[in-house]
Amino acid sequence: MVNKSVLVLGGGIAGVASSLRLAVNGFKVYLVEREPTIGGAALFFCCKATEACNQCSVCLVPEKIAEVKAQPQISLLTNSQVAEISGQVGDFSVRLIQRPRFVDPEKCTACGVCAELCPSQPNKAIYLPSPQALPYAYAIDKNNCLHFNGVECNICSQECPFGAIDFDRSPEKIELSVDAIIIATGFDVFNAKEKGCLGYGRYTNVLTGLDLERKFSTQGSITLPSSGKAPQNVAFIQCVGSRDVHIGNGYCSQICCKYAMRFAKLLQYQHPETKITIFYMDLQTAGKGFGEFYQQCKETIRFVRGIPVEISEISPDELEVKYEDFIEGKVAKEIFDLVILSVGITPRKDSSNIARILGINLGEWGFFDTQDHLDSTETNVEGIFVAGTCHGPKDIPESIAHGAQAASKVIQTLAARGI
Ligand SMILES: Cc1cc2nc3c(=O)[nH]c(=O)nc-3n(C[C@H](O)[C@H](O)[C@H](O)COP(=O)(O)OP(=O)(O)OC[C@H]3O[C@@H](n4cnc5c(N)ncnc54)[C@H](O)[C@@H]3O)c2cc1C
Repeated sequence: MVNKSVLVLGGGIAGVASSLRLAVNGFKVYLVEREPTIGGAALFFCCKATEACNQCSVCLVPEKIAEVKAQPQISLLTNSQVAEISGQVGDFSVRLIQRPRFVDPEKCTACGVCAELCPSQPNKAIYLPSPQALPYAYAIDKNNCLHFNGVECNICSQECPFGAIDFDRSPEKIELSVDAIIIATGFDVFNAKEKGCLGYGRYTNVLTGLDLERKFSTQGSITLPSSGKAPQNVAFIQCVGSRDVHIGNGYCSQICCKYAMRFAKLLQYQHPETKITIFYMDLQTAGKGFGEFYQQCKETIRFVRGIPVEISEISPDELEVKYEDFIEGKVAKEIFDLVILSVGITPRKDSSNIARILGINLGEWGFFDTQDHLDSTETNVEGIFVAGTCHGPKDIPESIAHGAQAASKVIQTLAARGI
């Protein structure tokens, strides 16, 4: 057993991969996550298999979470954030603040009695973050809970058969000493409302890729929000919030072409009569087997090289898309009943705050930067490394590989310094 410890900040798939690689090498890992469960964004995404697996990799997330659960070297600190860091490689002091969950994960059996009785509407204030959550326990959303908003409600704490709920918990300070730090704080999804001309938030049948992930994972299919009918004629619009220097995101998000094509295939699998058009500037089809998948998609999906400049709602089920057709060299208009905006990855809003606390640099587009372009994990501060999408856009397999790479770099660095 090695007598060394590492703080991994962020429990998405990249942070999980780093933690597992370190743990199997005998390191003590503190996996710090600000939400009530680890898993990150992809924990809430859907499997995009049709009659065959379409390699979206979403199933890797619960698999890796199960590995964390079985790994005694990893201490999970959920609902937690870093307040202060000092020291250097081999001797970092970290102060964390852990917000109360108000449900003791050791006592909670996730029986669900609390949520059944919770009177908060429309969403229950006490909830299981995900069926694959780790810790597998309920949590209370303070903003939504009557008890914390001036109403004398104690129903859940009185009725919990295991006495797991305690409203009187306060935030706790946790002090840790670690040899190295991996930052794996992930990404924010581009806010499609920033592209006002595309009507997101104004037109009922304009959705984003993230909405599709959530609808497919909770309902298993998609219908028109306006009428509940099956969609007949769907447009996907690529590069919403990516490759766009006017909004400060000049990079490719790497993931949108893939999820859009997989969703398009899934939609046609469920509704073979549905027509689908994908509007794109440039297609990102890199990755094992994806070129062949694109060729298959072209058999039933129409690809138009052009940029939609405006969407207008003619009626709730008729959206007029006005676009610049690059091949024909003209502006054209077409009607669709559902438009999906393929939103991309942006740096987290609080990246500059984390960069300030840790003394690390941000790169051109606001993701965490690395020292050496031949090594994508080492930051300008020795002993602090980055993993996953907080360093730049990546899909799930790439985030896992990058997380493992950051862990290997920690192991090498500490060994080289004789720590
Ligand atoms: C719409 C959409 C669809 C996608 N579909 C697919 C797909 O089908 N297949 C695929 O391979 N990829 C897909 N992706 C990409 C996939 O989501 C990412 O590759 C993956 O989630 C990256 O993992 P991560 O760990 O880097 O980041 P995240 O998943 O963002 O995880 C970061 C974690 O860090 C936590 N955190 C953040 N800040 C702090 C802090 N200060 N302190 C403590 N914790 C913190 C967050 O709460 C989060 O749990 C999609 C992306 C989008 C936007």
